[in-house]
Amino acid sequence: MDLEEYQRCARTWLAANAPGARAEGATEEDGLAAAKDFMARLYDAGYSGITWPAEWGGQGLTQAEERAFATEASEVTLPTYVFSIGLGMCGPTLVDLGTPEQKTRHIKKLLRGEDIWCQLFSEPGAGSDVASLQTRAVPSDDGGWVVNGQKVWTSVAQHADYGLLLARTDVDVPKHKGLTMFIVDMHADGVTVRPLKDMTGRAHFNEIFFDDVYIAPGNVVGQVNDGWSCAVTTLLHERLSISSGVGMSGQRDNPASFDSLRKIVDTSDPLVRDGLVELHIRSRALALFNAKLSQETKAGVFPGARGSAAKLLLAELVNFQADLAVSLAGPEAVAYEGAGGLAGAIALAPAMSLGGGTNEIMRNIIGDRVLNLPPEPRVDKNVPFKDLKVGTQS
Ligand SMILES: Cc1cc2nc3c(=O)[nH]c(=O)nc-3n(C[C@H](O)[C@H](O)[C@H](O)COP(=O)(O)OP(=O)(O)OC[C@H]3O[C@@H](n4cnc5c(N)ncnc54)[C@H](O)[C@@H]3O)c2cc1C
Repeated sequence: MDLEEYQRCARTWLAANAPGARAEGATEEDGLAAAKDFMARLYDAGYSGITWPAEWGGQGLTQAEERAFATEASEVTLPTYVFSIGLGMCGPTLVDLGTPEQKTRHIKKLLRGEDIWCQLFSEPGAGSDVASLQTRAVPSDDGGWVVNGQKVWTSVAQHADYGLLLARTDVDVPKHKGLTMFIVDMHADGVTVRPLKDMTGRAHFNEIFFDDVYIAPGNVVGQVNDGWSCAVTTLLHERLSISSGVGMSGQRDNPASFDSLRKIVDTSDPLVRDGLVELHIRSRALALFNAKLSQETKAGVFPGARGSAAKLLLAELVNFQADLAVSLAGPEAVAYEGAGGLAGAIALAPAMSLGGGTNEIMRNIIGDRVLNLPPEPRVDKNVPFKDLKVGTQS
């Protein structure tokens, strides 16, 4: 099928199947079931994992098809939020670093929405400095591992079947050298998930407790004690997928987007038009930057720290958009049920400056690795982890 025909088919399929940001359903469980049903149909129609390798369950097509589908998908909003960590971070990490057995076991189910994934990196004492994490994994006699510790801010974990876990496996070496990445079954004995409500009133993330959680052999991703380089791979995918919205959903249903705001304000006012034009320019510039990074990545050019620039630009855009919405919508911006959920979108905006790495950390990375400015001093680089005063260690 030629590209035009492919895009036409995608448009027809989306028009018939895209149900909106939240799939229909009276309860959260109904909404989840509807989202899973949508994801299965998306996969079966050939539109999930378009460029992922066919041998592991992807569609094995080219960027051209992916762009064609993304163009059509940007006109609608898909109920893919709950799958975003798996599609944007865990899945790409497994494609890059997983064993053939891990890929066979997980990729297709992830792409079909049968399994939901979460990313278990941050801890109460280790966020920006995630290499200071204290969750421990110790080997068991049968070649498996036993995990104890706590994670926090884990998005979608209340629905997750699997997580990519970063845990400490050696305390006698410097902090970046004693970490290992694991696939953990979120339904295993000893895993406790507690949802945390944010200021939107919804639970977007959770705290997780691991009490003697057994991980069977065959679930280490990459090499034992090489988890830091695996984590860097995940974080790169994370920044690109956050800034590009995983390439599947547009901003159509976002009440603070350009398209939504222009409908509720007086566009004959030149100051209003100024604000809207700036929003449009910033959004468009970021979309083009993301498209460039995505094309480069798929062509094998490593975007490196420029992924952090895209993530920083998105955080700044979302917060600019929220400020503009407040100034344009007036009292409607704080009426929680009013203006199509505008207050919810405004309340969610600050999270974008934290999740996936804070703005300050993005600036550090850009200064250090894009602009070649002197790096931050790192006094703990060669000190064994057990001798550091971090987290609850004293
Ligand atoms: C909506 C949301 C979803 C998230 N989802 C996940 C998830 O799914 N999985 C996961 O593992 N984590 C997740 N996180 C956690 C996120 O990665 C951390 O919140 C983030 O890395 C910051 O860590 P922290 O909250 O511990 O803040 P801290 O690291 O304690 O930082 C506090 C402040 O100090 C600043 N700061 C810290 N170090 C430096 C420095 N070296 N230079 C300059 N300033 C510095 C920070 O910028 C920040 O302003 C999520 C967070 C949010 C908000």
